[in-house]
Amino acid sequence: MKVCHFCGNKNFKNTKAQYTYKHNENFLIVNDVPCEQCEYCGEQYFKGSVLKQIENEFNSIHSYGKKAKKELVVPLEQYCEIQSSNN
Ligand SMILES: [Zn+2]
Repeated sequence: MKVCHFCGNKNFKNTKAQYTYKHNENFLIVNDVPCEQCEYCGEQYFKGSVLKQIENEFNSIHSYGKKAKKELVVPLEQYCEIQSSNN
């Protein structure tokens, strides 16, 4: 019986979610990844085989130069630079 690690709830629903894989400051975002979601707290659980596929795709893109279907430009800030100066 599956139990949520965060809240102990035992009810899960099958859904699809966006998964962000990050390694050494490189990112891969995959949409519509099948997962099980805790119906109480919303924590998402992905299968090992699914994560392995995402990792393989990440390596194809970042190590072997495969072109992703779509690329995003993501704004990046340092927190210390966006703090308001009147603190
Ligand atoms: Zn939960």
